[in-house]
Amino acid sequence: MGTLFTKIMNGEIPSEMVYEDEVCVAFKDIHPKAPVHLLVVPRKEVVSVMELKEGDGEMVGHLIFVAKGLAEELGLVGYKLLFNVGERGGQEVPHLHLHLMGWRE
Ligand code: AMP
Repeated sequence: MGTLFTKIMNGEIPSEMVYEDEVCVAFKDIHPKAPVHLLVVPRKEVVSVMELKEGDGEMVGHLIFVAKGLAEELGLVGYKLLFNVGERGGQEVPHLHLHLMGWRE
């Protein structure tokens, strides 16, 4: 059971993990679309932004701050933060995730 990303978090599927805490993890996207491309994924199995509840606000804020911290650590000079939302919005994996796509000098 569990989504693809839960299996990655549990180590059932290999990944290049770069960050872990009690709320979320971050690992390298398998098909990078920028020089740095990470996925920041909550441990909670929320399908997408469409399924977020009001009480999830703190968790979503945390994902953004983790992405910001990683961008600083990695010395990114600019980056994109992206949620694809729903199949029609280009979302392929039905487990909420924030794309961090960045560039170095
Ligand atoms: P989305 O289209 O927003 O659902 O993004 C899903 C992302 O997950 C894509 O950029 C994929 O390249 C990435 N992805 C799919 N499978 C894996 C995997 N096993 N490990 C790391 N990234 C993956």
